[in-house]
Amino acid sequence: MSYSVSPIGFVRSCFKEKFAIPRQPQLAPAARGVLELVAPFDNGDAVQGLEQVSHVWLLFLFHQALEDKPRLKVRPPRLGGNQSVGVFSTRATHRPNGIGQSVVKLEKVEAGRLWLSGIDLLDGTPVLDVKPYLPYADIVADASNALADSAPAPIKVEWQPAALEQAHQHALRLQEPLVELIEQCLAQDPRPAYQQPAPERRYGVQFWDVDVHWHYPHPGAICVLEVVQAADMNGSLV
Ligand code: SAM
Repeated sequence: MSYSVSPIGFVRSCFKEKFAIPRQPQLAPAARGVLELVAPFDNGDAVQGLEQVSHVWLLFLFHQALEDKPRLKVRPPRLGGNQSVGVFSTRATHRPNGIGQSVVKLEKVEAGRLWLSGIDLLDGTPVLDVKPYLPYADIVADASNALADSAPAPIKVEWQPAALEQAHQHALRLQEPLVELIEQCLAQDPRPAYQQPAPERRYGVQFWDVDVHWHYPHPGAICVLEVVQAADMNGSLV
């Protein structure tokens, strides 16, 4: 038996590639985006009442991780990438039906558009449903998870002075909290756990329309080297 679902909208996100997206929502409050609703949900009626809600659940498709053959076991990055556990004990992207869920902050409600922050979603992510966060039912005071009992400890993020100046300039142009976004995302240490890079190895990722480059000058710290306009964006914002 099979069922079909269709997106109610698509996310326009600060994250243009999977690398360096936080592994859960709320870890980078400066990560912002817009859910653009499609017809017939782009009508104000569909979001009426949401202005009374601070956070929403998004149910979405991991559209860049869909696979034909279901996996029973996965190796979550959170466990270092070398421990295999049952797919249902993780929030891995490779999962049956490719469905993800995130609680995100609702910044603003417009007909056809929900402005979001604290997201962990790639640009273009298809959203299947939106539901209001219900604190009385969704907060579970005595909940526990021994596989992932707290947020990962953040790594120290340092800046080359010129890179920090570049980030401030792009933040002004974009009207986005770009310095905070870079610090919050890099503090999650996006590199795969098994990589112990030499100081000269450079990493890079695109946030909004800028490329951010960094390296690991010594264990336990990241240094941002430059923040420059992405080559293929021609000045367009997202
Ligand atoms: N909070 C969600 C959940 O628990 O279902 C997502 C958790 S998943 C571990 C988070 C990762 O999914 C991000 O770090 C990003 O690399 C990846 N991701 C986000 N949007 C995606 C998409 N549309 N397709 C594929 N991967 C995506």
